[in-house]
Amino acid sequence: MRANQAASAYRCWAQIDLNALGQNLAWIRRRVGAGTRILTVVKADAYGHGLRQIAAALMHGGTDVFGVANLEEARSIRQVGAGWPILMLGACLPNEVTSAIRDDVMPTISTAAEAQQFSMAALKLGKQIPVHVKVDTGMGRLGARQREATLLIQTVTGLRGLRLEGVYSHYASADKDPEQSAAQQDRFQKVLDQVRKLGIPIPCIHANNSAGLLFEPKTQFNLVRPGLLVYGITPPSTRPLPHTTGTPLHPVLSWNCRIALVKEISRGTPLSYGATFVARRRMRVATLTAGYGDGYPRSGSNQASVLIHGTRCRVLGQITMDQMIADVSKVPTAGVGDPVTLIGREKEECITAAELAAACGSIPWEVLTSITYRVPRLYHGAHAA
Ligand SMILES: *Cc1c(COP(=O)(O)O)cnc(C)c1O
Repeated sequence: MRANQAASAYRCWAQIDLNALGQNLAWIRRRVGAGTRILTVVKADAYGHGLRQIAAALMHGGTDVFGVANLEEARSIRQVGAGWPILMLGACLPNEVTSAIRDDVMPTISTAAEAQQFSMAALKLGKQIPVHVKVDTGMGRLGARQREATLLIQTVTGLRGLRLEGVYSHYASADKDPEQSAAQQDRFQKVLDQVRKLGIPIPCIHANNSAGLLFEPKTQFNLVRPGLLVYGITPPSTRPLPHTTGTPLHPVLSWNCRIALVKEISRGTPLSYGATFVARRRMRVATLTAGYGDGYPRSGSNQASVLIHGTRCRVLGQITMDQMIADVSKVPTAGVGDPVTLIGREKEECITAAELAAACGSIPWEVLTSITYRVPRLYHGAHAA
């Protein structure tokens, strides 16, 4: 949808700034340099931003590879544009092996059994397919453990129908734990050294997600896998950002709803289900056109804030499916129909996805991917279609 349809038509909507996306990708490009390729992660509908539009803009912006979580996401990317390599970051289920090969999606291989399935299916289709072997260095999710990884890589290189394209690992705590990250690096490096000794070339080595990219530049190798940074959000972290970093990132998504009703309430008035908020004084409150049915986290009840006319207003009482209530005592001009910012900037004030997440005991990844289908995504910027 074109953005200028937005202003009047919607009760609750998200705006996606494709120019910001392009700037974020350009910033990542400058940071990693020309020798490192960028795999942009677009799983979960491009972190809730809308896969097709984001994929098109990233293709235009010069992404090298896409990362997805299932084959349907890969097919959507193919429909947008041909020719980009796609890595399936999850494990392919046995019944997905043939489709992955047909759709030209590079699988992540954690076991010899997976490698054999892909080899057999590839031979049947008369293809030789590039695969990435994953090493579990401490995440515990996918991948072969350090002592089995070298053997798995040998197995893959020996199987007909397969070509070793990459070897990778994934940080569990790059955002907060330098020691655990160092231990992971060490395990990964041991595998890489053993493989090198065996004379097996690895075209593509990668480890860094967004937090890795910021905090572990040593493991940049020749490919990085940013997700959150692409969407303009710095992963929340307890590690100080390296001073070379700065954060010239631009949040791509903003999220708005409207005021549906404004009223004065007297001291003692309870608000919303369960009366978890009771007014301690006379106040003005506004009922808003967004709720957890739009993906606004219910755990933000009595915790989160929204922006109205550039002023931060607290959410009062339980958030309901379609509506919530905010304190507009400090915003005398607030009126019915006025826009409300759930995520985004208004004048000097800004609520980031990370801030909303923190107020709700969540993480920005979850907040973004929870925004529901009911919220139209409106695209701005040079390549909005
Ligand atoms: C989701 C994912 C990423 C991207 O993570 P961010 O923290 O959003 O940068 C990178 N690698 C893998 C394997 C992933 O699953």
